[in-house]
Amino acid sequence: MEYENQYKRVLTPKYDCLLFDVDDTLYPFSCGFSKNCTKNIEEYMAQKLGIEETEVSKMNHELYKNYGTSMAGLKAFGYDFDNDDYHSYVHGRLPYEVLKPDHVLRSLLLSLPIRKVIFSNADRIHVNKVLSKLGLNDCFDEIICFETLNPTSDEDQSIVDNSFVDKSCLYNEDSELPATPIVCKPFENAFAQAFKIAKINPQRTLFFDDSIRNIQSGKRIGLHTVLVGSSQRREGVDYAIESIHNIREAVPELWEVDDYKKEEIQRFSSKMGIETSVTA
Ligand SMILES: [Mg+2]
Repeated sequence: MEYENQYKRVLTPKYDCLLFDVDDTLYPFSCGFSKNCTKNIEEYMAQKLGIEETEVSKMNHELYKNYGTSMAGLKAFGYDFDNDDYHSYVHGRLPYEVLKPDHVLRSLLLSLPIRKVIFSNADRIHVNKVLSKLGLNDCFDEIICFETLNPTSDEDQSIVDNSFVDKSCLYNEDSELPATPIVCKPFENAFAQAFKIAKINPQRTLFFDDSIRNIQSGKRIGLHTVLVGSSQRREGVDYAIESIHNIREAVPELWEVDDYKKEEIQRFSSKMGIETSVTA
């Protein structure tokens, strides 16, 4: 029994899931794509919501900072607009052609023997377009995106169980800011929903994101974390990498899972005096 337990333990790799943000994580911030997104959001605020043009930049910055996405902030302050209309205005006009196939990242991802899940605040059309432009759309097992966390139809609503969510995380508890009806990172309820929907055990998951707030929130809820786009380690950051291309240098153990498994199986097999054929 003791050997059995030890045997089971060594066969359990440290990570069984890799969780990836998309924007500014799977491609570099320096390519300028995100600046276009900010410009579109500010245009939407001025033209569609009638917010004073001289105010939009500062307001957008504040909303993004406090709510994780500008949309979540706008909804919190009572702006009423159609989510699909917002997404098609903000993301639909982005210059997707600046994103080129990333063969290096594709090879890295495909060589990783671990389940890979996307976790983005963006809408599904945008996520799929970005993955397609980067040549990565077949590299992930599941996509958690805006529609997953904010379903509209009755059928989808049944997937999301709000009963276990601590409602206090819908609020910015440090301030007087109003709550947002949008479920998104960095709020812990978004992480909790994602874990439930994609059956993720945070203790065995490595989370990649370019946002320090998302990383710190993920860390609080039990994830192992990789901050992408900066080599500066900060609180809540287990690994910090300038580029997603540096995964192998930062966390080589991700590739060692199979070899490790084989070695341990052999070791325990001989200890227990049995012969085992290793196929892992
Ligand atoms: Mg991002």
